[in-house]
Amino acid sequence: MKPLVITIDGPAGAGKTTVSRILADRLGYKYVDTGALYRGVAFELQARGLSPEDDKGLENLCADLDIKLVRNDKGVCLLSADRDITGQVRTPEITMLASAVSARPVVRAYLLTLQRKMGREKKVVFEGRDMGTVVFPNADVKFFLDASLKKRAFRRYLEFASKVSQTLEEVENDMKRRDENDASRAIAPLKPAKDAIIMDSTEMTVENVVERMLSCVENVS
Ligand code: C5P
Repeated sequence: MKPLVITIDGPAGAGKTTVSRILADRLGYKYVDTGALYRGVAFELQARGLSPEDDKGLENLCADLDIKLVRNDKGVCLLSADRDITGQVRTPEITMLASAVSARPVVRAYLLTLQRKMGREKKVVFEGRDMGTVVFPNADVKFFLDASLKKRAFRRYLEFASKVSQTLEEVENDMKRRDENDASRAIAPLKPAKDAIIMDSTEMTVENVVERMLSCVENVS
């Protein structure tokens, strides 16, 4: 099978991270969670007391950032200037801040370069919002994974119930707001690429989604 770039876009909680990991493992590919990169920028923004509206501050921040995803014995870790921040970027505050910084052109330009470098050698599954539309418009296989808001919020609530003290309603409201921000921003909005295979995971198991994706990948390669 020739080496491929595979993209999986879609709204929060659709199951992208879980299926991307399994799909990458099954294919012997790398897996890149691009949302983690936006979360890393948000984390550093907050640490420096900057506002997402401060364009000059964001420009200086991006010029200074050193964000990486590395695989080690703990799995894939998010490093900022070699400090492991993986466990600190999943709070509700960083989640909403990541959505705010992701609408800023300087941040998208910084991460566009970084993401394209990661895709040079192919054999990668990229997960995000604009992977198939903007970052890799020539990707070999593109998926858009969706699910109902209720189901997505419920999954996210279960995932973080022990760590985050948000009610199901709060999780759903944050998710709705984030989807609206992501889909309505001027640059790289959340939407399916014209040539994306659209899948709705509302009533599907993770295994069903992965199997369907694998058969699409086999058809292409
Ligand atoms: O995927 P995750 O929920 O971790 O992403 C956090 C935020 O990062 C998203 O709400 C979105 O605003 C932003 N993002 C993006 N483009 C991507 C990946 C994530 O704008 N490719």
